Amino acid sequence: MASVLVVEDDQFVRSALIRHLTEAAHTVRSVGTALEALREVAHFRFDVVILDLGLPDLDGSEALKMLRGITDVPVIIATARDDETEIVRLLNDGADDYLTKPFSVEHLSARMAAVLRRARSSAGEPAPSPEIRVGGLAIDPLRRQAVLDGVRLDLTRREFDLLAFLAGRPGVVVARKELLAEVWQQSYGDDQTIDVHLSWLRRKLGETAARPRYLHTLRGVGVKLEPPAQSGAAGAEPSR
Ligand code: CA
Repeated sequence: MASVLVVEDDQFVRSALIRHLTEAAHTVRSVGTALEALREVAHFRFDVVILDLGLPDLDGSEALKMLRGITDVPVIIATARDDETEIVRLLNDGADDYLTKPFSVEHLSARMAAVLRRARSSAGEPAPSPEIRVGGLAIDPLRRQAVLDGVRLDLTRREFDLLAFLAGRPGVVVARKELLAEVWQQSYGDDQTIDVHLSWLRRKLGETAARPRYLHTLRGVGVKLEPPAQSGAAGAEPSR
């Protein structure tokens, strides 16, 4: 899941892109001009921008330069121009990748995944470890997938981050302040935000605060994740 800005003036292409990206669980905002795109990136944080080169107000390469003046967000150029020198120039000007129109959804998804992977690994985040296993939980940080007793969990981005962070240090009590700093990347905030996400995560793990299996809240101290007491029976138990 990523937050995507689509910059495309062709109404038909634009709505197709929005539909496909939304179906792939991305959040999408879209605009039809370069100036609107600049305003968007100045106000919102995106994981990736898909930039059409043939825009009505600014030439695509101008738009790219101006974008680069205000943000490091990964940019994928979508171009109808099948012109190699132009593409090379744009990549040198700060585009992260390009697609030549018409392109398939699969092609776009693959390019987006690659660009996001690169952006995440260069953002100074430590390289995620291959897989985290705690009891019947298996978490794949690279694919951002979590499986419980063989069943894939449908988690939001924040729920996944929270789960992966706690599962990465099983049995260790993590203070809310630390969760806020590590998962939310905020130095302050209210405990309720964390509690709400914990309770959503709990529900998806098929447990309750009163009858915890993996997630244990220690009042006034913090939260820890550890394998259920009889993890050998995991999978055979009903989830609720
Ligand atoms: Ca266009």
